[in-house]
Amino acid sequence: MDEFRLIERFFRRDSKSSEVVVGIGDDGAVVKADTNEQTILVTDTMVAGVHFPERTAPQDLGYKLLAVNLSDLAAMGATPNWFLLNLVIPDADENWLEEFSTGLFSLAEEFGVELIGGDTARGPLCLSATVGGHVKSGTALMRNGAQAGDQLWVSGTLGDAAIGLDLVGGVLGANDHDMDYLVGRLNRPIPRIVLGLSLSAVATACVDISDGLLADLGHILRESGALGAIVDVSCLPLSPQAIAVCGVSLARQKALAGGDDYEICFTASPAQRPQIEQLRDQCNVKLTCIGSVRALSGIALTGTDNQDLTGIKSGYRHNWP
Ligand code: ADP
Ligand code: MG
Repeated sequence: MDEFRLIERFFRRDSKSSEVVVGIGDDGAVVKADTNEQTILVTDTMVAGVHFPERTAPQDLGYKLLAVNLSDLAAMGATPNWFLLNLVIPDADENWLEEFSTGLFSLAEEFGVELIGGDTARGPLCLSATVGGHVKSGTALMRNGAQAGDQLWVSGTLGDAAIGLDLVGGVLGANDHDMDYLVGRLNRPIPRIVLGLSLSAVATACVDISDGLLADLGHILRESGALGAIVDVSCLPLSPQAIAVCGVSLARQKALAGGDDYEICFTASPAQRPQIEQLRDQCNVKLTCIGSVRALSGIALTGTDNQDLTGIKSGYRHNWP
């Protein structure tokens, strides 16, 4: 199958969105822009063997590729609109493409984002998406607004995806029920779009947790002017499944340093606490205060005397020799 038939068959769909003037099929896509809005662009790449185990189901890959991009938009407080898809695939395996596109479009439809173009090439498996969204001008949530005295919040539970990865790799073991949940958290992160939209009015800074809490919180603190934070380890939200599989201590390590959770970390004035507690119900997501921001730089961990935890330095980084 050549690249054009592949695109027609698996990726070209009827346009539903009034914002898309020209979608797949021309040299470029044409989208409308509203003068009261700003466009937010995010992009993410997933390389086989680096970002996902080679055996990951294609449906999960399609879902996750879009989910991790939507998570970036959530962290910006943006509404997603459309996306571009760059596929490098070793062969045109029809089953693979069918499943990949099913996973991809299931999430695209859930959030009303339309595929408007991309590129397709033959080579070692590498998946990339670029998503465009919008905010009302001036309302984007950024990393640089944290203030000393702000409280530190996270959504959902942390560490599940890293434990899921260990389960897939056979480093940890679990019963089927816990396995399904934790591997599901690895492969099917929930983009916190609705939460991100609501946070525009209450958060001072925001980031999505892709490389681990300590690493991504570090980005907020650095961008906000070399601030620091105190994180109460005993407050970290852990799922019952995470605790069942690896115990509280290791689960806390995974929560602090494990990647791929795609939960939201944000800072807000203590005065916003009642509003944030209301958001829990409105957005149907667990929100936990885990500490506070302070002027003294660095992240201090309290609530534990476990040296395994206090010694953690985290964050996945790609390195080249
Ligand atoms: P060009 O050669 O002009 O760069 P292509 O032949 O690569 O264009 O692509 C033809 C059309 O198909 C374009 O509209 C492009 O955006 C779209 N397209 C290519 N690959 C994909 C893909 N993986 N998903 C969605 N659209 C794609
Ligand atoms: Mg091209």
